[in-house]
Amino acid sequence: MSDQTGAVAELVEQLGRLPGIGRKSAERLAFHLLRVSESEALALAEAIRRVRQDVRYCETCFNLSEADTCALCSDTSRDTTKLCVVEQPRDLMSLEQSGVFKGLYHVLLGRVAPLEGIGPDQLTIEALVDRVRTGNFTEIIMATNPTVEGDGTSLYISNLLSEFPVEITRLARGITAGSVLEYANREMIADALTGRQKL
Ligand SMILES: [Zn+2]
Repeated sequence: MSDQTGAVAELVEQLGRLPGIGRKSAERLAFHLLRVSESEALALAEAIRRVRQDVRYCETCFNLSEADTCALCSDTSRDTTKLCVVEQPRDLMSLEQSGVFKGLYHVLLGRVAPLEGIGPDQLTIEALVDRVRTGNFTEIIMATNPTVEGDGTSLYISNLLSEFPVEITRLARGITAGSVLEYANREMIADALTGRQKL
């Protein structure tokens, strides 16, 4: 499609910027979008527009939400004594899909990574400490990824929270060290949650 200019070339270029999409795949996707019905192609454009314009972070837990407060934080049937701390909204999604945990979450929006210049101030740690201070949590479950940085982040936070009368636990190592929560399967996550240990 290298001799194409204008709209088609622009679409190929944009699609090619997506992770895991090479030039060939971008061209295939572009041709696909030209072949399907107009409404089907525009539904994709509309979904992208909506996700960027309507989705934001929950003011309480920093999960993705279309309202100021996310559906999980608004759900009065959740156990408000347990708080599970994760790195990213997609980790929350993985844990939620396992169906084992019924408490609340806190999304850090990253992990402490000194080599990348990411310090604690760039995460939502201050808001987390505030929640623990003002909430009625009895257990904080550290569910950062089992990587060097995830472990470091977890340790950093548990030190900060040590002044509060809460039990701090860590997911059991059902998940192989170095693997990422996002890719762990449902059973592994359920095992890691039920076998969590005191930190
Ligand atoms: Zn929330």
